[in-house]
Amino acid sequence: MLIGIDLGTTNSLVACFRNGRAEIIPNRLGEHLTPSVVSIDSEGTVYVGRSAKERAIIHPMESAAVFKRGMGTDREYVLGERHLRAEELSSLILRSLKEDAEHYLGETVTEAIISVPAYFNDHQRKATVRAGEMAGLNVSRIINEPTAAAIAHGITEKQDACYLVFDLGGGTFDVSVLELYDSIMEVHAIAGDNFIGGEDFTELLYRLFLKHTGVDPNSLDLQMEAELRRTAESCKCAFSHNEEIFMCCSINGQLHGMRLTLEEYERACEPLLERLRRPLERSLKDARVTLEEIDRIVPVGGATRLPVVQRFLAKLFKRMPEPGLDPDEAVAIGAALQCGLKSRDKELREVVLTDVCPFTLGTEIVMDNGYFEESGHYLPIIERNTIIPVSRTETVYTAHDDQTRVNVRILQGESRMAQNNVLLGELSVPVPPGPKGRESLDITYTYDVNALLEVDVLVRSTGFRRKLLIRSSRSPLSQEEAEERMKLLQYLKLNPRDEEPNRLLLLRGERLYEEAMSETRAWLDHAITEFEQVLKKKDRLQIQRAREKLKDILDEIEYGSN
Ligand code: AMP
Repeated sequence: MLIGIDLGTTNSLVACFRNGRAEIIPNRLGEHLTPSVVSIDSEGTVYVGRSAKERAIIHPMESAAVFKRGMGTDREYVLGERHLRAEELSSLILRSLKEDAEHYLGETVTEAIISVPAYFNDHQRKATVRAGEMAGLNVSRIINEPTAAAIAHGITEKQDACYLVFDLGGGTFDVSVLELYDSIMEVHAIAGDNFIGGEDFTELLYRLFLKHTGVDPNSLDLQMEAELRRTAESCKCAFSHNEEIFMCCSINGQLHGMRLTLEEYERACEPLLERLRRPLERSLKDARVTLEEIDRIVPVGGATRLPVVQRFLAKLFKRMPEPGLDPDEAVAIGAALQCGLKSRDKELREVVLTDVCPFTLGTEIVMDNGYFEESGHYLPIIERNTIIPVSRTETVYTAHDDQTRVNVRILQGESRMAQNNVLLGELSVPVPPGPKGRESLDITYTYDVNALLEVDVLVRSTGFRRKLLIRSSRSPLSQEEAEERMKLLQYLKLNPRDEEPNRLLLLRGERLYEEAMSETRAWLDHAITEFEQVLKKKDRLQIQRAREKLKDILDEIEYGSN
C-alpha cells in the first residue's frame, strides 16, 4: 500500500487514496495532525507527536522539535545521551506515521510519497528519502509541497485556473505559480525561503514580551524559556479571533504581562512580511504572470491563519484568499492524490503534472575574457524554473597547461560567484596533459521528476566517463558509519500505540505537577498514582474510566474548568 506523507516542520500528516478519494489517516490519538516532535527517555523509548511535545516541556534536554530546518546538514540534535541528525529524527516521525497508517488500513505499508518544501535543495531531498528508508519506507516519489497543495485544489475543485500557492508553514515558505489547463497541471515557477515560517512570528512575539517586560532572557532556564515560547505561540494564534491579546507569564515567581493590539503586532511584523514579498515577486516574474492574472490564491500551512499574513495577502492581491481546503491538510491530501495518480486510479481524472526545478544548478569555471583569467565563476547548466525532467550538457575546457585532472564542482544557487552557491558534490576526472584549453569535457546534469540530480562527465578525447552519485559534501557518513547509526536507531522503540493516550495523560500530569504548588500538587500526586494503579490491572474498561477521570482533573487544573 502506498501512502502520502506531509512531513512538516511543526506538524506531520499521513493520508492515502482509497475508494476513489483521498483521506487523512488519524494518528494513534485519533487526530489528524501529529506534532513533529521527538522525545527519547533514558531507556530508549521514543515518544512522537503530542506526547513528545508534552514531554519536551519538562524534559527539553531529551527532546527535539523544528528539526526539519536541519535536514540535509550534519547538525546533530542532542537528546539526553543520544546524538541524532534531522533525518534520523524525521525517520522516527515517519515510523510512527507508518504504524498509524498500517493500523488504520489493516495492511502493511512499504511505500510512500513524501512532500518537501519546493525550495529544499538536493541534500535536503536526499536526506528526506533516507529518512523514509530508515523508517522502512520505500520513497517512490518526492513531491513539492505547493505542487501537492495545487493538485489537491485543482483536482477537488475541477477548475481550470491559474493558481498561486502561498505556503507558509512552521519553518519554511514556498510560493508557486501553477496553471491547470485541460488536465495538465503545469508548474510555472517556484520560489521560497527555507528560513522563514510561523515560528518566526512566534519568536517575534516572544522577543517583544521580553523587551516590554524587561525580563532578562539569560535569567530563563530552558524550561521557562520553552514555556514562554508556548505562551507566545498560543497568544499568536489568539490573534485569529482577537484584536488584542494579553500575554502573561509567571517568571521566577513574579507575574509579567504585556498587552498588544493586532495593529502593533502587525507593525512589528513588517520586516518578516517584507521577506515574504521577495519570493512572491520573483515567482510571478519567473512565471511571466501578473498579479491580476492569478485566478486563485491558495493559502497553505498553519501560519496562513495568522491575520497579519492574511491582511498582507489581501492588500497585495486586493482580495481575500479563499481557502477551499483546510490549509493544514491540503499538502497531505495532494500527496495522497498523487498516490492515486501514480497507481492510475480510475476515479481520478487523468491529470498530467509538470513540475520545475526550483533553483539553478551549475558548475565552477575559470573565466577567461581575453585579458585576464579569474577563477571561481559559476556556469549555470540547468536554469531555475526549467520544466523537469530535464537533461542539459555544457562543455568546459582545461584551464591550465599540462593539467592532468579536472575537478568538477556541482553547485546549486543563483550567485555569480561559485563560492556563494551550495556545493552539492565534486567529481574528479583524468585528462591527457597538454596546452590549456585543448581538452574538453561534456558535463551533463539530469534532473528527474523527484528533483534528484545525476551528473555525468565525459572527457571527449579519451571517452573516459564518470557518473556521480552525489554525496553530501559536508562530512559525508561512510558506509560503516551509516550502518552503525541504522543499528542504533533500530534499538530505539516507539512507545506502543495503544499506550499512547495513557502515556500522554501521565506526561501532562507530570508537567502540571512540576508547574503546580502545595495543595494542587498533593491532589495531582494522588490522582496520578491512582491512575497508575488502575493501569497495572490492565482492565480496558476500568482504564478508560480512570483516564476520563484523570483528564477531567488535569483540565480543571490547567484551564480552571472541566
Ligand atoms: P504547519 O507547519 O503548516 O503545521 O504550520 C505550523 C505553523 O502554523 C506554526 O508556526 C503555528 O504556530 C502556526 N499556526 C497554526 N495555527 C495558527 C493560527 N490559528 N494562527 C496563527 N498561526 C497558526
